[in-house]
Amino acid sequence: MTISNTAPVYEIFFSFQGEGLYTGLPQIYVRFAGCNIKCRYCDTSYSTTISKKANYYSQDKLIKIIYKIYKKNKKKFTFGRPFIIFTGGEPLIYADFLELLTQKLKKIGFNIYLETNGTLTQNLKKIINFCDIVSMDFKFVSECKKSFWKEHRSFLETAVSNAAVKVLVKCVVTKNTNIYEIKKSADTIRGISKEIPLILQPSIDKNIPEIQNLYRFYTKAKTIIPNVYLMVQMHKVYKIR
Ligand code: SF4
Repeated sequence: MTISNTAPVYEIFFSFQGEGLYTGLPQIYVRFAGCNIKCRYCDTSYSTTISKKANYYSQDKLIKIIYKIYKKNKKKFTFGRPFIIFTGGEPLIYADFLELLTQKLKKIGFNIYLETNGTLTQNLKKIINFCDIVSMDFKFVSECKKSFWKEHRSFLETAVSNAAVKVLVKCVVTKNTNIYEIKKSADTIRGISKEIPLILQPSIDKNIPEIQNLYRFYTKAKTIIPNVYLMVQMHKVYKIR
């Protein structure tokens, strides 16, 4: 097992999940610095590169900070094991670091929520057995300039290989999204397991999609897979972290 001793982190904070099927879930966020791709709609563009503002933490130091935040917010975690969410940037860049961190966090009673762009399959393999929820994105050529279907397919296959992990797929829908991208999303899910939920997230910035297109996209996806949702990203509406 390769272990990285430190990883760059921008923020560690308490908040509520702002998107997808677990909207409203209290969580402690760990935002890693750096990303392997570039999306036009990125809402945390500062986190896609590793600047001087990033702090390099060891697993033990990070756990200490997480625990301190947890103690301060304990009453807000009303049920079950509290969730730690790894986000970014792209947290899986630091899979070797996460391998040990996830194990330690699980051991002391936390659950793991992984938020990822769904492109680094080999890295996911290192931690999938310690994840509780994997929330992956499908990234479209229309906004991210590159096709990731091959990567997304193998990533999703790996994510569902551990039956104990809850997996959901999200995609941001903008005025540039086309019906082929939506059909391909639903087809990709269907090819792996048709029960995996697909969440269509309309952009609310200047690239807001036409409402007619949202209906078309939703209807198209529903003809292919049963669990399709149209949901806004709450943190963007309320401008919170
Ligand atoms: S994958 Fe996520 S963090 Fe990276 S550029 Fe895209 S939206 Fe931003």
